[in-house]
Formats: sequence, structure tokens, C-alpha cells
Amino acid sequence: MTNQSRRQFLKTGALFGAASAAAAVASPAFSAQQPQKWDETTGLLIIGTGFAGLGAALEAHYLGLKSEEITILEKMPTAGGNSIINGGAIAAAGTDMQAKEGIKDSADLLYADILKAGGGLCHPSLARRIADESVSNYEWLRDEIGVEFKAVTYHGGHSVKRSHAVKANSGSGFVLPMLAKLKSFGIEPRLRVIVDQIIVDENKAVVGVKARTGYRFGKEQSGKPVYIRATKGVVIAAGGFAQNVKYRMSQDPRLNEKFTSTNHRGATGEMIMEAQEIGANTVQMDWIQLGPWTSPDEQGFGVAPLFVESAVGLGPMIDPATGKRFIKETGNRKVRADAIVAIGHPCLIYTTEENVMKQIVGKNMTQKLFEHALNSNVLRKFNTLKEMADFYKIPYAQLEETNKKFNGYMTAMKDPEFDCMFFKGAALNDKGPYYVCRLWPRVHHCMGGLEINNNAQVMSIRGEPIKGLYAAGEATGGVHGMDRLGTVAVADCIIFGRVAARHALKAK
Ligand SMILES: Cc1cc2nc3c(=O)[nH]c(=O)nc-3n(C[C@H](O)[C@H](O)[C@H](O)COP(=O)(O)OP(=O)(O)OC[C@H]3O[C@@H](n4cnc5c(N)ncnc54)[C@H](O)[C@@H]3O)c2cc1C
Repeated sequence: MTNQSRRQFLKTGALFGAASAAAAVASPAFSAQQPQKWDETTGLLIIGTGFAGLGAALEAHYLGLKSEEITILEKMPTAGGNSIINGGAIAAAGTDMQAKEGIKDSADLLYADILKAGGGLCHPSLARRIADESVSNYEWLRDEIGVEFKAVTYHGGHSVKRSHAVKANSGSGFVLPMLAKLKSFGIEPRLRVIVDQIIVDENKAVVGVKARTGYRFGKEQSGKPVYIRATKGVVIAAGGFAQNVKYRMSQDPRLNEKFTSTNHRGATGEMIMEAQEIGANTVQMDWIQLGPWTSPDEQGFGVAPLFVESAVGLGPMIDPATGKRFIKETGNRKVRADAIVAIGHPCLIYTTEENVMKQIVGKNMTQKLFEHALNSNVLRKFNTLKEMADFYKIPYAQLEETNKKFNGYMTAMKDPEFDCMFFKGAALNDKGPYYVCRLWPRVHHCMGGLEINNNAQVMSIRGEPIKGLYAAGEATGGVHGMDRLGTVAVADCIIFGRVAARHALKAK
């Protein structure tokens, strides 16, 4: 098989794994050769403009690397990837905002929560790094970058409220200030530049990339080839592969085209494949997270998750076919998504208007988005449980019974059936109106990816760091194990993006 046809084989989603990666190492013929002449030379070359890439670029600047030595490449026509459309909250354990609300938290507790959700698969040193640097990272974002935070919110699987939500209500609240800071330093990402290959020297050290300028997403042959040399290293901050159906099905065959995704269109994972071409190891590629809080009544991530993640613990999640609860509402994403997929049709979550107005609107969800959700029928309002039952064809007597029991558990602050967590100040669901959201999971996050060490260096399949190659964010694996807790990805991406730059500059 020729070098070109092998690349095509992988990119069209054919099965691959350790065996083919081993072949890549055994045969240096698969490594991209150095060009006779480099078209450009830079210092640190960063692939991707999400949290990880921007974190790496900013850190490189603060460490003194000149602006012209920092190159950020982005294949899409706009910057931000998944990060700019993200939910807009970051996990941090032990902050001033938490202290003001009397929330007791610590790095140890965050670490324990990440490990617990990870089901024994987390690479502990990576999780530890996130836990240890979560507060300094949050303070850096606020004080140095100008990110504006507005509230501490709860996400399923965490022991306490520790998700620091930004005023903008989306990842743009991080990405735009990060881009603005970079611009003020004279650093701007180059858009529509796709990286095709990682280039290594005769010692297998990464020395640059082959890219195409003027690339048009969807027109896969478009653009003009350019060879860029990177004297301080290459950082893969190119995100995950949730939008690559063939690739994700080779890891988890259930995730066929019937499952849509919350991700931006460019989350297609080719940089993970390119790193494999030069012998990089991947870990836990088949742990692909479904978001349990998306609604079939809208596209993509939508607005439902903003409602649902605040509604858990305030009202029951039920199977409309039976009127019964079927899972811990405050359970982690995997637990909930698997349970919904197992019942085989969308479920419902609801709570009373008092909770919606006091606990959700103005906190995790703006008034405007709330109205949008109602107007687009992502949320529906019913004056009574009977109205709700009639609309969704729920067995009414059972719904009443389920609701009564849930209220009892809320009063006792203890759920003997499913162990749902409850929050002080929540109103009982004993009078309408009620607000209801239908839920069906979407492919959301790739927990697996390139193996990195604690310095964000990409590891080879032989267990050694690959010289000159770094990775951070969703392109990497092992940080979260089998399940990622909400808002921990933002911390992961930014912290390891910054670590990558720190180490790359120190290493030279
Ligand atoms: C809708 C949504 C909501 C989310 N909400 C949350 C949340 O609330 N909390 C949380 O912790 N996590 C959340 N996540 C997950 C989190 O946002 C992502 O894991 C994170 O943004 C990934 O950041 P990244 O920098 O690794 O990649 P991205 O932000 O995806 O950036 C990667 C960039 O690299 C570019 N790229 C890819 N390949 C190439 C190439 N070959 N050449 C050039 N450029 C390339 C892509 O186009 C993209 O712009 C959410 C994700 C989504 C999709």
C-alpha cells in the first residue's frame, strides 16, 4: 500500500488500531519526509483555535516567545472549534466564588470526582494536574485574560457546585477574550489552513508540518500546499472526532449516523490519525460520550442542556411510556445517556415553575434563551400534571404516584430508589405550571485520543515521548477515563494547552 493510499484508507474510516499503528512505527516509510525546502519557519506551531490551542498560544506569549514565533493554524473559516459553542462553564475547586456561597471544595475532592467518573481508566497524573491547577487557571482566565464569570452552577457527577459559568452563557465567553488578548499581542490565527501531515526528521523528532492554505472545508482537495518548519515544537490542539461517523463507529459500532452530534462540523479527528502515522499511541478511543441532555426537538447542542443541567435534582426524569423514573437524575452523563438509549425512545424531565424561575432562569439560562426554548417547543409548559400526561400519553395514575414519591424524597433530602441528589431551597413539584423537556442523547465528547504525559508530550506506542510533539484538549485521551464530568473539559484543554507551551519552550 502506498503512503497516500494508506492515508486515504485511514481517513475513510477503515478499522485501525494498535496493529496498524505498530506498522507505522515499524516502517519509517509511513513518516512524512522533510521537504527539500521549507516555505516558512516559526517557533511554536499550534494546530487548532479552541481552548487548548489558544491556551498554548497565550502561555507561549507570556513566557516570552515573540509574536512572529507563534503560529496558530485553523482549517475552518472561523476560529473556536467546539470551544466557542461550548456550554460556557469551567470546573474549579476552591475558588472565591464558591466560598461566597459557602461551598466547601478542594483539589482533592475534584480529583476524587474525576477519578470516580473515570471508572478507573483515568491516567491519575493527568487528572491530578487538572485538579491542582484548576483554581490558578480560573484566576488566570479572570485576571489576566479578562473572562467574566457570573455564577457557580452544578453539573451531574460532581460532589459540589463548582462549574463557573461565564456571563456570555457559552464558550465564546472564554474564546473571544482569549482571541482578543492574542490580537493585542499581535498574534492572530491563520484561518482556512489545514494541516495534512506531521513531518519528522531522521531521528523521528517532529520538525514541522505540511499544510494547505486557502482550504475550503468540504472541498477536500482545495488549497495550496505549504511546508512549515517549527523550531520549538508542534502542538496538536485539533479537537476530537465526534463528527467522523466511520471513525467513531470503528471504535463504538453503536454510534452510527442515526446519532447526530453536538460538535462543530470540523471535529473529524484527522490530526489523531496523522500522529498515529508517526507512531503516536492512542488510548481509550472507544469511550465516546453521549450528552444525556440534548433534545430531539432542536439541532446540535441547542438550549435544552442549559435547562436540564439545572433541573436535575429539582424534578423527576421519567419514561413517558411508563410514567416511572428509571435513573438517577444527578448521575453522571454516561449513566444517564446509557439509560435513555436502553429505553429506546426520548424521556422527559420536568419541574415546577417556581423552581424554573428561581433556580434556572437568570442562572444557567438567560431569560432570552428560556423564551426561545418555549417558543421553539424545546420546553413546553403545562398547567397540571394531567395536561402533561395527556399531551405525552403518559399513564396518569403512575405519573401522579411518581411525582408524589419524588416530592417525598425531596422533603427527606434522600432518594432510596435512585440516590438522586437534592439541593436546599428547591420547591416541591406539587403545583403547576410545570415545564417539560424531551431528551435524546447526541454524540458529544471523545474521551479517548492521543496519549500524553504530564508535560503534554505525545507518547509513542513504545511508551516514549515523541520529540517535538505535544497535544492538549479533546485530541488527547486518558484524562477523563470512561466518563468526562461536565465543565472539566474546559479546565483540561486550557491547562494542558498551557502546559504544552511551557514544556515546549523549556525543552528547547
Ligand atoms: C456544544 C458543546 C458544549 C460543550 N459544553 C461543555 C461544557 O460546558 N463544559 C466542558 O467542560 N466541556 C464542554 N464541551 C466539550 C468542550 O467544549 C470540548 O472538549 C473543547 O472545546 C475541545 O477544545 P479543543 O481545544 O480540544 O478543540 P476544539 O475547540 O474543537 O478546537 C479544535 C480546532 O482545531 C481545528 N482543526 C482540526 N483539525 C485541524 C487540522 N487538520 N488543521 C487545522 N485545524 C484543525 C478545528 O477546526 C477546531 O477549530 C462542549 C462541547 C460542545 C460541542
